[in-house]
Amino acid sequence: MDQNFDLQGYMTKGVERVVADAVKATVRNPKESAFMLRFAAASRAASKRRAAAEKNGEHVPPFLIASITSKCNLHCAGCYSRCNHATVDSEPVAQLTGEEWLRIFGKADEMGISFILLAGGEPMLRRDIIEAAGERRNILFPIFTNGTFIDEKYLALFDRCRNLIPIMSIEGNREITDARRGKGVYDRLIANMDAFQSRGLIFGASVTVTTENLKEVSSDSFIESLSGRGCRAVIFVEFVPVTEESRELAPGDAEREYLADEIARLRGQYPEMVFISFPSNVYDTTLAMYEIVKNGGLPVGINFDSKNRRPSNTYEDMFHAFILGMDSFAFGLIKAAQIIEDGRIEGFTEKKYESFNTELGQKIRKGEATLEELAAHAADLKAPKVPASGRQEYLEGVLNNIILS
Ligand code: SF4
Repeated sequence: MDQNFDLQGYMTKGVERVVADAVKATVRNPKESAFMLRFAAASRAASKRRAAAEKNGEHVPPFLIASITSKCNLHCAGCYSRCNHATVDSEPVAQLTGEEWLRIFGKADEMGISFILLAGGEPMLRRDIIEAAGERRNILFPIFTNGTFIDEKYLALFDRCRNLIPIMSIEGNREITDARRGKGVYDRLIANMDAFQSRGLIFGASVTVTTENLKEVSSDSFIESLSGRGCRAVIFVEFVPVTEESRELAPGDAEREYLADEIARLRGQYPEMVFISFPSNVYDTTLAMYEIVKNGGLPVGINFDSKNRRPSNTYEDMFHAFILGMDSFAFGLIKAAQIIEDGRIEGFTEKKYESFNTELGQKIRKGEATLEELAAHAADLKAPKVPASGRQEYLEGVLNNIILS
């Protein structure tokens, strides 16, 4: 492992690439584009402030997570936050006020923090804090929400404050989502997505994966329905069983493996979207971080949980599970950097897909090639060539070599 690897520099570069991609993605949307250009300048200035702090021995992360309320309007089946009493129905006590959060966001801005993830309970119950966040245009705020409080007033706020990005929880189709979250929630989420799309607002989805919805949430029809509505990121969170009866809903090793394979497939099939799942396998976290870095980083951060298993069921086990998840992603980021610096996998991929960059390849990618043109090209090729080997074993060997070095 490269002991001199500059993790802070790497994350900063990732943030800069997110912003650059967001600017590109919004060129046809003047409002979004104007915000992204301003945010790009602010984010570059923030990187400089973090770098200056680092030189003085002070480490400032580019991301923060803020849990802004313990209250929620829903009672989702198996909600571990309620079970742990982190989310309650009673009026919250000793919670920070909107002004206090505004001061924290201001301080974060001064220090050079560019992304703050807002979570709860249900964060949109705290309109005062969301409005305060909207005022801090130098910071991007992904909001993890159940989506039931998104109304015209919030839509107008999101339209005005493009730094607020909702990430809505959905469990699959109407039947599955409503069974866990409550009747009518699915229709509400779809209506929200359509409203976001019609206003050109960016959003993401968070999916709790169970043994029951695993196939549905990784299916093409589900992902296509999200992508077609303008969703740009899907975060898969493993279900955490909190009662004996819900234990069978928790994915086991076979389901995890299935999900990992499906995510690899979806990443190839939906390049405009980012897919994230629960970590502990360093091969998975390395490949996930590789895709994240190559696609410009993640504006929404990474959300994961720990779960009880039959042989490990104490608080200490859960503590270790969280540490394991964080370490696995940190390790994955370092290894992803090494894969890119090593260049063998990148070089192979570039060579394999070099025809994508020919004049015809570019036309096909832009959807400009006609069937007549393609028919003429196929006729010119005469007999098709035997496809070149994908050299999977060689590439897996390179990956082993980097991960185990
Ligand atoms: S919306 Fe989230 S916090 Fe609220 S009950 Fe459902 S899972 Fe729990």
